[in-house]
Amino acid sequence: MSTKHFALLGTAAIGLSLIVAGCSSKNADATISPAAGVIESTAPSGQLDNSSATLSSPVTSTSVATATPAIESVLPGSTEPTPITTTQLSEQPTTKSTLKPTAKPTTKPTAKPPTAPSGEAITVIAKPADMQVLVNKKRVLPSNYVPTDLVEPKVRFPYEEKLEKRKMRKEAATALERMFKGAEKDGIILYAVSGYRSYQTQKALYNNYVNKDGEQAASRYSAKPGMSEHQTGLAMDVSSKSANYQLTQSFGTTAEGKWLSKHSWEYGFIIRYLQTTEDITGYMYEPWHVRFIGAAIAREVFEQGVTLEEYYGVAVPVAG
Ligand SMILES: [Zn+2]
Repeated sequence: MSTKHFALLGTAAIGLSLIVAGCSSKNADATISPAAGVIESTAPSGQLDNSSATLSSPVTSTSVATATPAIESVLPGSTEPTPITTTQLSEQPTTKSTLKPTAKPTTKPTAKPPTAPSGEAITVIAKPADMQVLVNKKRVLPSNYVPTDLVEPKVRFPYEEKLEKRKMRKEAATALERMFKGAEKDGIILYAVSGYRSYQTQKALYNNYVNKDGEQAASRYSAKPGMSEHQTGLAMDVSSKSANYQLTQSFGTTAEGKWLSKHSWEYGFIIRYLQTTEDITGYMYEPWHVRFIGAAIAREVFEQGVTLEEYYGVAVPVAG
């Protein structure tokens, strides 16, 4: 479905070589940015986690997965992170296909790109403003990237404060408004909890966690700056009254979570992190995190039951 190719560019000026992996015809981010000084090559890979900042007590020892979103978990009227204990995982929102859209590339770069400790390359995204941008642990946003068209969608929020995180890029905000209205017609009341998050906000969050729990622990539940999809302004964390406005995996079992899983593609959104795909996306199941990608791709991703990484045919999973 796509032409896989690797391109290796040496950027002598900054002493870095970068690799572009997994570019497909559908992925417009096929070139490397010379502004690569922001590469997060010092980031220990495999650690940061979801684009959603998560809570300070990352994982329990029980067999039940624990979603612990922090900064995003805001009770009505509160701006403070709220610890969450999660309940049983829900059924998978979409059926995951074992078929991958593309085969792995057979060619490899001839020179070694900078690598994370795991040995995998990290790419600085060349076109962060692209609506179809792929952000994950291996593909990071430039630190200076701020969307120019952030607006506040006219939807319900479980808090009154006018915070940065209410915002999304205009097209995504309009689509979110349509989706919330569509849900309401089905008797489903959704709440927007956390959208845009700046590089600096994510950095501060992550550093707070590092100070509190140490880097190794923090990196298991909080995304490093540049690696959060929320910086694109195309993601929104959604919850419901039935989930106490929390960002928790049990949201996936609510009527609202099920509706979101079933219908979000109709409005150009995908559930970005599915159950059992952490080894591919690098992030745990987040039934609350929707990403605007446009109607055509959202539909295909949904119908194929794949992750965005698989859809784009990214060769190197971001496991870890
Ligand atoms: Zn999120």
